[in-house]
Amino acid sequence: MKPILYIVIPCYNEEKVLPITAPMFLKKITDLSAAGKISDDSRVLFVNDGSKDSTWNIIRDLSRENPHYIGICQSRNRGHQNAVLAGLMEAKDRCDITISIDCDGQDDINAMDDMVDAYLDGCEVVYGVRSKRDTDTFFKRFTAEGFYKLMNWMGAEVVFNHADYRLISSRVLQEFANFKEVNIFLRGMVPLVGFKSTSVYYERAERLAGESHYPLKKMLALAFDGITSLSVKPIRLITGFGCMVSLLSFIAVIWALIRQFMGATVSGWASTICIICFMGGVQLVCLGVIGEYIGKIYMETKHRPRYIISERTWEEESEA
Ligand code: UDP
Ligand code: MG
Repeated sequence: MKPILYIVIPCYNEEKVLPITAPMFLKKITDLSAAGKISDDSRVLFVNDGSKDSTWNIIRDLSRENPHYIGICQSRNRGHQNAVLAGLMEAKDRCDITISIDCDGQDDINAMDDMVDAYLDGCEVVYGVRSKRDTDTFFKRFTAEGFYKLMNWMGAEVVFNHADYRLISSRVLQEFANFKEVNIFLRGMVPLVGFKSTSVYYERAERLAGESHYPLKKMLALAFDGITSLSVKPIRLITGFGCMVSLLSFIAVIWALIRQFMGATVSGWASTICIICFMGGVQLVCLGVIGEYIGKIYMETKHRPRYIISERTWEEESEA
């Protein structure tokens, strides 16, 4: 039996690029099935992430045009990670393999051939890794590579230069469904599921149309979320730092006492103020990080749904 492939594509305000890239995804599916690698029941699954433009209308039109296109619509914008998760969870019981990819044509669609081959060779997870970033601006490249280094240094292990372009088998997704956290960071979580995995390399191109929704601010937020969702290393660093400062303070106190007994004290206003300010600052930073974790615990205890799907293209068909 040939495996059924679902290509999962998050879309947020992509009316400009979707009409260009949608036929490319469809062609990939037809080519792969013509080559006998995947079943003809494979689908291109769009996840509309609460777009404010006509993205959902385009998806609906596509699905009427060709049964290989299907789509789901989130009730509102929840961000790229939740959109991909919604698509993967929706696909997991209908297919054998999923490939998640952005809809802007930046990731090389032809790498899917290698991914499917790796799956047929027995790999359950295949990471798409960017071989170079020549087309990115220096700033984007510098910040993006810094992102991976920071993540790894902070204890959130991620595959270097791998974004969310990857193949996951439905077997892995069934296990992944048991990861119930709300703060999701897919690139860090998928390796935690385990199973045999490999990487394929591709060159990343420029966006075919439209604009990036991932400015530095969102990237930093994602890095921070990734680190605090996956690792407690920041807390350890703080503990270490706290111990060091305490030790230094202890030495300083002894030194101050000795000076006092020797009768060599000065008025000491400046040093007192300095110490108060420094300690105040350090404590605030520490409290902030601890607060971040408490905030996460608070969000997790609510057990809110991670995504809500308001419409599905195939439901529309059965109503009609
Ligand atoms: N995206 C999404 N929800 C959002 C932001 C982005 O589903 O809130 C989608 C977007 O449509 C695209 C993918 O996530 O398919 C990656 O976004 P983008 O290309 O803007 O990021 P970049 O490639 O610049 O990092
Ligand atoms: Mg992009």
